[in-house]
Amino acid sequence: MEENSSLIIVLVIGLGLAFILGTVAQRLRMPPLVGYLMAGVAVGPFTPGVRVDQGLTLQLAEVGVILLMFGVGLHFSPRDLMSVRRVVIPGAILQMAMVGLLGVGAGWWFEWTMAQGLVFGLCLSVASTVVVMRALADRRLMDSERGRIAIGWLVVQDLLTVLVLVVLPPLAPALKGGTMNAEALAEALGFTFGKLAIFGVLMWVIGRRAIPSMLHYIAHTGSRELFRLAVLSVALGVAFAAAHLFGVSIALGAFFAGMILSGSPLSQRAAEESLPLRDAFAVLFFVSVGMLFNPVVLLSEPIALAITFAIVLAGGLAIWGLLHVMGVQQPALVAVSLAQIGEFSFIMADVGTGLGVLPPAARPLILGASILSIFLNPLLFALAARARPDEVADNHAPKPKKKPAIVPTTLTGHAVVVGYGRVGGLIAENLRHQGAPYLVIEDGEGAAERLTAAGIEHITGNAATDAVLNAANLQEARILYVAIPEAFEAGQIVEKARRANPALPIVARAHFDAEVDHLAALGADKVVMGEREIASAMLQYSRA
Ligand code: AMP
Repeated sequence: MEENSSLIIVLVIGLGLAFILGTVAQRLRMPPLVGYLMAGVAVGPFTPGVRVDQGLTLQLAEVGVILLMFGVGLHFSPRDLMSVRRVVIPGAILQMAMVGLLGVGAGWWFEWTMAQGLVFGLCLSVASTVVVMRALADRRLMDSERGRIAIGWLVVQDLLTVLVLVVLPPLAPALKGGTMNAEALAEALGFTFGKLAIFGVLMWVIGRRAIPSMLHYIAHTGSRELFRLAVLSVALGVAFAAAHLFGVSIALGAFFAGMILSGSPLSQRAAEESLPLRDAFAVLFFVSVGMLFNPVVLLSEPIALAITFAIVLAGGLAIWGLLHVMGVQQPALVAVSLAQIGEFSFIMADVGTGLGVLPPAARPLILGASILSIFLNPLLFALAARARPDEVADNHAPKPKKKPAIVPTTLTGHAVVVGYGRVGGLIAENLRHQGAPYLVIEDGEGAAERLTAAGIEHITGNAATDAVLNAANLQEARILYVAIPEAFEAGQIVEKARRANPALPIVARAHFDAEVDHLAALGADKVVMGEREIASAMLQYSRA
C-alpha cells in the first residue's frame, strides 16, 4: 500500500493506533508499551496494510527523546551524577568491553572478521534511554540510589557511544585490514574532545546563568503559555545545538539542558510544563522502533537472532555482576532496566554498515534483538520482582529531596487562606489583626521563606493536591478562603474541600461570571468576582 508521508497522517495513525493497541495491551494485563510497539509493526514497511513514513515518525520520536531526557535532567543535579561516578564510569566501560568481546565471539560463529564482531558487540552494549526512563519512572525509582546509578550508567554509555561513532570513520580502513590513518584518528579525537569541552564550558557558564534568569523573567510575566514555550525552546534548542554544533548526542544534550536547570527553583514547574507533550512524543518513539522491525527475521534467522538476544541479556548479567562486585546493594533492578537495546544501537549499526565495518546481515539482527528486549523488559522486571520483591518496590527510595515534607497542622477552629498574593496577603493581614488562628497555603517561589520570616503558619505546595489540602485540617477549620486567580485550580480546591467538610464555609475568588457559576456549582458558598467589586468601589467614589 502507498506510504502516508504527511505529518498529520503520521500523527493521526501513529498516535491513534498506539492508543488503541495500548488500551488492548492494558486490558490483556500487559504494559501499554507492548501495544505501542505492535502499532509500529503494523504501520511499518514490513507488514501489509497501512504504512506511514518512517523518517517522519523517527523525527517525531526524537522530539520525545529530547523532552524525556530534558525531564530526567531536571531531576538530576550534577552532584547526583558525581555521587555515582565511582560505580558507573568503570562499570559501564567494563560492561561495554565485555559485551564487545561477546560480539567478537558471535562474529566468529557467524564467520565475520574480528573487527566486525567487535562493532556488532558494541551495538549490543548500549541501552535505550527511553526504555530505562520509562521503567524507572513507572516504578518511582528516579530519585533512588539505584535510579541514579542506572541514569549515570546510561550517561557514560552515551558518552562512549559518541566516542565510538567518532573514531569509527578514521579507524574503518584499519578495521577492514588496511593501514590505520593515525593522524586522522588523533585529529578526530582531538576535535571531538575539543567540541565536548566547549559544549561543557558553554553550558556551565552561560547555561547556568542565562537560561535560569530568562526563565525567571518569563515566569514573572505571569504567562503560562510563554513559560511553556520558553521551556520547550530551551529543551529543543540546547539538544539541537548539542547535536549539530558540538557532535554530542541529541539525548545527552537535552539531559544537560535539564541538569543545568535542576538547581533552579523553577525546575519543578519546567518539568510539569513539558510533561504532556513529552508523554505523547515518547509513545511515538516506541512506534518508530516497531516500524523498523521485520518479523520475517524471526523465521529466517531464528538461531542468529537468539544468539544476538542472548548477548543483550548477557550485557544485563554483566551489569549485575559488576554492581555486585562493586558492593552495590540490590543490583538486579539496575541490571534489568539496562538489559535492552534501542536507539543508540540503531545509530551505531547504521554508521558501521555505512563504513563497511559491520556486515549488512547484522542490522536486522540488531533491530530484532532490540524489539525483543524492549518487549520482554517488563517481563524481566516482573521476574526480578518475584525473585526479590523488596528490590523492585520503591520502599528503599528516599523521598525526593527538593520538596520539604508536608507537616499537618495542629490548628482547629482556624481559617485557611489559599494563596498569599495580593488578595490572600490582605486577608491574612486582617486575620492577624483580629487575632484569629489561621494558616496559609502557598506554592509560589520563595513564599516559604517570606511566610516563615513573617511568622505565619503555612503549608508550601499546590493546594489542589490531596497531600497539601489534607494537611490543612479542613474538617476542623472555621472557614476557607480560596484567594488564587486561576479558576480551574480554584475549582479543584473547592470541590475537594467541600468533600472533606460539607459544612465548611468556603469563599472563593473569580474574575469572570462563568467562573462564579463554576465555583458555586462545585460548592463555594460565596464567590467574589474581583472585577465587579472593583467596579462597585469605583462607582462609590464617583457618587461621593
Ligand atoms: P495574587 O493573584 O497576587 O493574589 O496571587 C495569588 C497567589 O496564589 C500567588 O502567590 C500564587 O503563588 C498563589 N497560588 C496560585 N495557585 C496556587 C495553588 N494552587 N496553591 C497554592 N498557592 C497558589
